[in-house]
Amino acid sequence: HNQTNCPPRSEELGRATWTFLHTTAAYYPDRPTPTQRANVLSLIRALPLLYPCSHCADDFGEDVKLNAPDVSGRAGLSRWLCDRHNEVNRKLGKAAFDCSKTDERWKDGPADGSCD
Ligand code: FAD
Repeated sequence: HNQTNCPPRSEELGRATWTFLHTTAAYYPDRPTPTQRANVLSLIRALPLLYPCSHCADDFGEDVKLNAPDVSGRAGLSRWLCDRHNEVNRKLGKAAFDCSKTDERWKDGPADGSCD
């Protein structure tokens, strides 16, 4: 399995999707316009309909139904998404991610500059 030129396996698709979603949240405005709020809500609501792993999509849709997306601003959206990802981590038996580290992981990099 050639990792770069083969269709993605589900783990790779998951990592790529989380990368996109967390990075989008990290750069979402502090004070989004109504249009920006509507657009990010559309993106979130499309995932359970389009994500090409049907049982992942179904479970995510149920979780989003129980936990309304917080599209009020960057901090709220980043936290909401961290909680949703942790719900998937829990389901898969993975360790929870510390949501206080979300900006460091997806936006600023570690304080030691090792990602600069
Ligand atoms: P990933 O979980 O892909 O995470 C990537 C990186 O994100 C981690 O290395 C870590 O640095 C960081 N991270 C981890 N947790 C958080 C967090 N809470 N907040 C912020 N950053 C974090 N797979 C299944 O087998 N079954 C499913 O039902 C399933 N549902 C999914 C639903 C959705 C919406 C998505 C996007 C993916 C789903 N996946 C599912 C895929 C799964 O979540 C992982 O992406 C995949 O197993 C690869 O895991 P990983 O250990 O490489 O890290």
